[in-house]
Amino acid sequence: MSLNKTFTYYCADSLNVRRGMRVQVPLGYQTIVAFVHETIQMCKSLDEYEKDLGYELKEIQEVLDDEPILNAELYDLGLWMAHQTISPTISCFQAMLPNKIKPKSASKAAVLEYHVKLLDESKFTSKKQQQALVVLKQGMILRSNFNKMFPGVLGALLKKGAVLVVSQERSAAFSDLDIKEAAYPLTQEQRDAIKEVEESDNDVILLHGLTGSGKTEIYMQLASRMCKQNKQVLILVPEISLTPQMVTRMTNRFGHNIAIYHSKLNDQERYEQYQLVKNKDVKIVVGTRSAIFMPFDNLGLIVLDEEHDHSYKQDSTPKYHCRDIAIERAKHHKCKVILGSATPTLESYARAVKGVYKLIELKNRIHQNLPVSHLIDMQKEIRKGNTILSSQLKQAIQERLDKHQQCILLLNRRGYTTIMKCRSCGEVIQCPNCDIAMSYHKDSNKLMCHTCGHESSADIVCPKCGSQNWNHYGLGTQKLYETIQEAFPQASILRMDADTTKRKGGHQAILESFERHDADILLGTQMIAKGLDYPDVTLVGIFNADALLGRTDYRSVEITFDLIVQASGRSGRGHEAGEVYVQAYDCNHYGIRHAVKQDYISFFNEEMSYRHIGTYPPYCYMVAIGFSGKNEERVSEAAWKAAQYFRNHEEIRTLGPSQLPRIINEYRQRIVMKGKNREELIELVWQWFQQQAFNKNQLKIQIDVDPYVLD
Ligand code: ADP
Ligand code: ZN
Ligand code: ZN
Repeated sequence: MSLNKTFTYYCADSLNVRRGMRVQVPLGYQTIVAFVHETIQMCKSLDEYEKDLGYELKEIQEVLDDEPILNAELYDLGLWMAHQTISPTISCFQAMLPNKIKPKSASKAAVLEYHVKLLDESKFTSKKQQQALVVLKQGMILRSNFNKMFPGVLGALLKKGAVLVVSQERSAAFSDLDIKEAAYPLTQEQRDAIKEVEESDNDVILLHGLTGSGKTEIYMQLASRMCKQNKQVLILVPEISLTPQMVTRMTNRFGHNIAIYHSKLNDQERYEQYQLVKNKDVKIVVGTRSAIFMPFDNLGLIVLDEEHDHSYKQDSTPKYHCRDIAIERAKHHKCKVILGSATPTLESYARAVKGVYKLIELKNRIHQNLPVSHLIDMQKEIRKGNTILSSQLKQAIQERLDKHQQCILLLNRRGYTTIMKCRSCGEVIQCPNCDIAMSYHKDSNKLMCHTCGHESSADIVCPKCGSQNWNHYGLGTQKLYETIQEAFPQASILRMDADTTKRKGGHQAILESFERHDADILLGTQMIAKGLDYPDVTLVGIFNADALLGRTDYRSVEITFDLIVQASGRSGRGHEAGEVYVQAYDCNHYGIRHAVKQDYISFFNEEMSYRHIGTYPPYCYMVAIGFSGKNEERVSEAAWKAAQYFRNHEEIRTLGPSQLPRIINEYRQRIVMKGKNREELIELVWQWFQQQAFNKNQLKIQIDVDPYVLD
């Protein structure tokens, strides 16, 4: 395998070829699409070149682009990213471009855009449609934006002839600025924060403030200021936060100056949004991770909201972190980066404390005070016979039902599902493809592997002892649902988890139903912990709050803290004060104690001391290398050999190999290197990686620089 090899080709018409363009070239027996890296003017004969190169100089078959598809900044960014993430340059270019113009395909993309156009005002009937009408009255709107703002509405409107979808070559009609002002005056704290951002000499700013402290309003204010100076702005949000609520809030403020870019767009929609930026039809982009690669040429500000969110890290090659890319792009554009969060990663907060980033803290919530939190010791409750629902939380739910208010119940289920265990011999049913316990699903009476999707019937005899008696251990959302329904037969409960949201749009439908107050209780896994904003919710209950703490991953306390703080933020967002009940077995754990008090600083200080003792980030940098393949011996041998190699370098510490659970019939091993100097560590792994000659079919190597978790 060669990683980043370049080849030289001959081109008769070289004036038309520049770096960043795609060309079609012969390679071996194939024809491939490649990027032009550099052009050299010929100054000797072809024969002489061939002699120097050692291979026959072939001709470029076709030049696919009229102008570079990656401009100079993005091309260099790709090279930089390949180095930083230790991955093939071509994989970085692929990650940077929308599908329609990926380097793999030679097709020239269409430049059509689809807009929704108002046809007949009288045909807008439902509440949702009325809201859409208000927006459409301002002019045509890109179909992809419309669908994000009003999911599921377009079909009905088209059917009755209320709107038209018109396709046209990209339009430059939306270039005028129609930015509105906020409907309220800023608070003193917000004004101070904006001033501090603008006056800071530090280009990276960490804005630390609880949910509801007015961070988004600060981003929007800074964004309008930048637009008025004719600069572009990128606001990045985690997938889960890019709700229709959020999009509407942004679009109401910025009108047609905004593009929205997220992973649920289809190829055509993505391409449209990409072109909007490329053609400078919009100044503001609100988007998820991959929006960081939009072809801006005059950025004035990048915001990473919820900077701690793990969706900012791509989990396949190239395993880049959006924060790193943002900071690198900001250097080029000489603009600022704002990292916003209620629960920043330890890495970011530590940098801010040290002055590497500028720290700005918002101490107050805009509307409401913090919800009152209660920590419930489940060990005591179990002795009273309450294994799942504590008496206090039960009473609190009852009070809400009586007052016709709503509750959110959150089950921390990571690494916590219902498993089947033999009553006689203790055997646990595992997936035949993965060394992981199968989850028991009661409603379909099936066993399911949540890792590879394998399914089988739960009517089985124990493969070890032949017994037919099973215990079902663990708390899944289904079991919790039954328990709650049993305790409150009159309550209407919505369940949101991987099973109930499989259908496209299922997720949205459940949330909308809850928002309409069709149900009293919304019950689910982490997917309901973040971003939701429902004024009638005055109670949040968290089950198994400490379920993650027993795990070996170095970030598990941080993730637990984040989950509790974020979930608590869902309570009491309206006029009524909110309450939070946190049920845990290990109530003395500092992660739980500080989270219940929403005390980030105390959590940070204590967690930092543990990271220091164990030498984990931010006290070191890490690179993880995963080895996987069907042949157990080969995987193991490769991992041991690599570990040996790295152990010869004393400036770093090498851990492992450690064996990971088999997944989809592949054996897996991992080694982890720790070092004080990131660049040195990366250099070392590069040296090793370039020496690897292996067959991809037999052994896969996955490199992860700054792994987010090691579980
Ligand atoms: P965050 O991003 O920190 O969660 P937001 O900016 O979303 O905070 O603000 C929380 C709520 O307060 C939102 O509903 C927002 O519209 C409102 N808000 C923000 N700033 C002000 C202000 N200065 N005056 C009144 N309401 C505000
Ligand atoms: Zn058995
Ligand atoms: Zn499996």
